[in-house]
Amino acid sequence: MSGGYAQPLVYFFGQGRADGTAAMKDVLGGKGAGLAEMTQIGIPVPPGFTIASSLCLTYLESHQFPPRLRTEVETALNRLEAVTGKQFGGATQPLLVSVRSGAAVSMPGMMETILNLGLNDETVAALARLSGNDQFAWDSYRRFVQMYGSVVYDLPKKGFDAFLEQRKVAAGVEQDIDLPVDQMRSLVADYKGLIESQVGHPFPEEPLEQLWGAIAAVFESWNTRRAIDYRRLHDIPDTMGTAVNVVSMVYGNLGSDSGTGVAFTRNPSTGEHAIYGEFLLNAQGEDVVAGIRTPVEIRQLREALPEASSELERVARLLERHFRDVQDMEFTIERGKLYMLQTRRGQRSGPAAVRIAVEMVDEGLITKEEAITRIPASDLDQLLHPTIDTSSRLDLLATGLPASPGAASGVVTFDADRAESRGKNGEAVILVRRETSPEDFHGMVAARAVLTARGGMTSHAAVVARGMGKPCVAGATSLDVDEGAGRFSADGRVVSEGDWITVDGASGRVYAGKAALKQPELSDNFRRLMSWADRVRRLQVRCNADTPADAHRGREFGAEGIGLCRTEHMFFEGGRLAAMREMIVATDVEGRNRALARLLPMQRADFEAIFRAMDGLPVCIRLLDPPLHEFLPKEGPELDALAQEMNLEPARLRRIVTGLTEVNPMLGLRGCRLGILYPEITAMQARAIFEAAGIVAADGVRVLPEVMIPLIGNVVEFRKQALVVQQVAADVFGEKQITVPFSLGTMIELPRAALTADSIALEAQFFSFGTNDLTQTAWGLSRDDAGRILPLYLEQGVIEADPFQVLDRVGVGKLMELGVQLGRRTRPDLKVGICGEHGGEPASVAFCDELGMNYVSCSPFRVPIARLAAAQSALTNRGSVDRTRATV
Ligand code: PEP
Ligand code: MG
Repeated sequence: MSGGYAQPLVYFFGQGRADGTAAMKDVLGGKGAGLAEMTQIGIPVPPGFTIASSLCLTYLESHQFPPRLRTEVETALNRLEAVTGKQFGGATQPLLVSVRSGAAVSMPGMMETILNLGLNDETVAALARLSGNDQFAWDSYRRFVQMYGSVVYDLPKKGFDAFLEQRKVAAGVEQDIDLPVDQMRSLVADYKGLIESQVGHPFPEEPLEQLWGAIAAVFESWNTRRAIDYRRLHDIPDTMGTAVNVVSMVYGNLGSDSGTGVAFTRNPSTGEHAIYGEFLLNAQGEDVVAGIRTPVEIRQLREALPEASSELERVARLLERHFRDVQDMEFTIERGKLYMLQTRRGQRSGPAAVRIAVEMVDEGLITKEEAITRIPASDLDQLLHPTIDTSSRLDLLATGLPASPGAASGVVTFDADRAESRGKNGEAVILVRRETSPEDFHGMVAARAVLTARGGMTSHAAVVARGMGKPCVAGATSLDVDEGAGRFSADGRVVSEGDWITVDGASGRVYAGKAALKQPELSDNFRRLMSWADRVRRLQVRCNADTPADAHRGREFGAEGIGLCRTEHMFFEGGRLAAMREMIVATDVEGRNRALARLLPMQRADFEAIFRAMDGLPVCIRLLDPPLHEFLPKEGPELDALAQEMNLEPARLRRIVTGLTEVNPMLGLRGCRLGILYPEITAMQARAIFEAAGIVAADGVRVLPEVMIPLIGNVVEFRKQALVVQQVAADVFGEKQITVPFSLGTMIELPRAALTADSIALEAQFFSFGTNDLTQTAWGLSRDDAGRILPLYLEQGVIEADPFQVLDRVGVGKLMELGVQLGRRTRPDLKVGICGEHGGEPASVAFCDELGMNYVSCSPFRVPIARLAAAQSALTNRGSVDRTRATV
C-alpha cells in the first residue's frame, strides 16, 4: 500500500478488548473474527493476535514478509507479554503460543495447529518448574518439535514415529505419555537430529524464528493439494487467502482439574436445545481429534468439573444469543478455569436445521424470514426419506449419481420378475440393472431401491424412481453388471444375487451389507416452517404425478396441482403394457383403434382417480410422449413371447419392430409427432380426459383439466393436435350433455419452440418448460448417454454442474427467458411453468422465480423443497420480478 492510511496487518485481542470484530471475517478469517468477537463480549479467551488474510497471497507471490508486518507482530507480542505477564523466550515465565490457520470460510486441508511454540531447551525447564510436572513439560516439547518438523518442514510423520517406537520399546512402555522423562529428553534430541539431517540446518531454538517459520507455513498451506481441491469443489476463490492466529497457550493436560473438548450449543443431528459435545479430562485438543482416547459426553462434565461446566453453559447461551445461531465451540479448561478457543456457526442435519430455526423463532431469537432463508432447501430431503444412520459401520462399494434420495437396504436382484416375486414374499430387494426400461417397471415397484451402472439424472431409472419416491443411484460406472450370471463387480469386489447392499440415493453411494436406517417423520416444526414459506413465496408449486397414489402424496406435501401427468407412464404395468405394445405395432388404423379401445377405459379410470385426488386443483395432462423404443422388447426370446401373446408370426413382429427402430429414438417419433402421424391416439386420450372429467364433475368434484401437447417445435404442430383435442371435447360434451372448462397448452422443450414462442402463444394458453428435453436438445447431449460424459466434464472443469440436475441458466436459461418474454408478448396472461426435473432443484426454482413464471412442478417428494426454495427466492429477490399472474 503506498502512502496514506494503511489498514493494520495484525489485530490484537485480550483482556476484554479486541481490534477486530465478527464482521471482519474477510480480514481475520472465521476463527480470528470469532476470537475477537468473543473477547469483545467478555467471554474468556486466551489473548492473542491475528495476522490478516490479505498477506497470504502477497507472501505466496514474493515469499517475503513486508517490513511493516515484522514491526506489527513484534508490537503485538509485546502486548501479549504485557497482558499475560509472560515473556516470549523468557526463562522464568515463558510465553508459549499456538499457531493456527483460518480462512473466511471453514476449509479443511490447510495447516493444522502447532502447539507450544516458544519452547526450547531453556523454556522447557521453566515450563517444568511452573507446572510442577517434568513429564508434562517434556511431552509438550516433544510434541512441539515433532509438529514443527511435520508442518513447517513437511517431514513425514513416519520418521518421528520410528524414534518414538524405539524409545518406547527401550523403556518397556506402551503409552507415549508413560515414557520416562529422560527418554523424552533423548527423544527430543532424536527429533532435532532428524530435522537437521533432513533440512540441512538445526531446529530453531529462538522463539521468534520459530514463529516466523510457523507463519510462513500457514500461508504456504493455502496451496496444498488438499486445500486447492477443497476450494475447487466448494467454489471458494483462490484469492481469499488464510489468516494466521497466534494465541497464548492454555493447558488442558495439567491434571484432573483440566481438560479440553468440543461442543455445540444445540444438538446438531436432532436440534434438541441442550449442549451437545464431548471432552477429555487431562488432555490437549489434538487428543480429542486424534481418537487415541475415547472422549466422554459433555453431560458428564457437570459431575467432573461442575463450575467449569456451568460456565460453559453460560458461555454457550451468551454466544447463541449474540450470534443468533447455533455455535460449534472448542474449549479448554486449565486448572478449573474455562477458556474458549473457537466459535463458529454449527453445521447441522436437515431435521436439526428445521427444529432449531422454528424454536429460535419461538424464542424470539430470529424472525420467520430468517428461519426460512437459513435452511438449505435441499436439506429437507433428509426429512422426507429414510437416511443412513451415520453411526453405523459402512463399507463403500461404489459411487454413482444421486438420482433419487433416500436410503434402503436389500438383497440384490438383477431381474424385474424376480424382484417382483421376492418383493411379494416380503423380502427387501434392490433392483440392479445395467440400465432400466419400461419392462423393469414392475420390478422397480417391488424394489426398495434401484441401482444402475449406466444412465444419467434423467434416465428412465432416475425419473421413474424419483416419481415413486424410491432411492436410486444411477450411472455407477464402476459397476460391471452381468445380469445373466447374476452378479456385478465393483473395483474387483463381486456381489451376487441375494447379497445385501445398501443404496443411498442422496449421496450416490452404494455400500456392501445392511446399514442401519433412520425413518423420516414430518414434525410440527416442519409444518410450521412450510406454512411461513407458503406465505411469502410467489411461485406456485405443483407435482409431477402419473398415478392417484403420486397425486395424493403430492397433495400431502403441499402441491397445488399437477404440473405434469406423463400418460405414457400409465402403460408400464402388466396388461397395460401389452395393449400399448399392440397399439404401437398395429399396422393399420383398425388394428390401432382396437388397441386404443382397450386402452381407453384404463386411461379414463386413471384420470378419474387423479381428478378426484386433486379435487379443486389443476391437473395438467400431457398427451402421449413415448420414445417408442422404450416400450418394445429388444431381445429375441422376449420378442418371440410377445409375438405369441399377440398372435403374430415372430418374423412379422420382428419386421415391424425393425421398421420402428430409430437410429436416434430420442430425436425420433416422439411427442406430438406421434399424434400427428396417428391422430386417433390423441383422440383416444382426449376422450379419456373429457369423459373422466364429466364423470367426476357429476359427482361434485371440481375438475380443472389442462391438456398439454408435448415436444412441439412449430405452431402448426400445436394447431393440428389442438384441433383434434377441441373436436373430441365438443363431441364428448355433446354426447354427455356437459361442459367442463379446460385449457390447452404446450410443453416448451425444443429450442425452436422457445425461439418462436410468440407465435405459439397466439394459440397455446399455457407453456410448461420441459427442461429435461430442452437441456438435451440445447446441448445436443443425449439424456441417456450423458452419464458417461458429464462426470469427466465436471472433473475437468468443462462445466460447473450437471445441467440435467441444475438448470444451465446461461444457455438453457436464455432460451427459457426468451420463451417467457416472447410468449407473454403475444399473450400477456400466458401461464408459464416448468415440469422438467429442475422444478425441484433450489437454484433452478430461484431462476424460474426470477423469470416470473407462475409455477414449478416436481416429483412429490421434492414439493417441500420447491416450496422452501421459492420462498427463499421471494425473500432474496424482493420486488425484482415482473410477473403476470395468471389465475392457476
Ligand atoms: C422434459 O423433457 O423436461 C419433460 C418433463 O418431459 P420428459 O422428461 O417426459 O421427456
Ligand atoms: Mg420431454
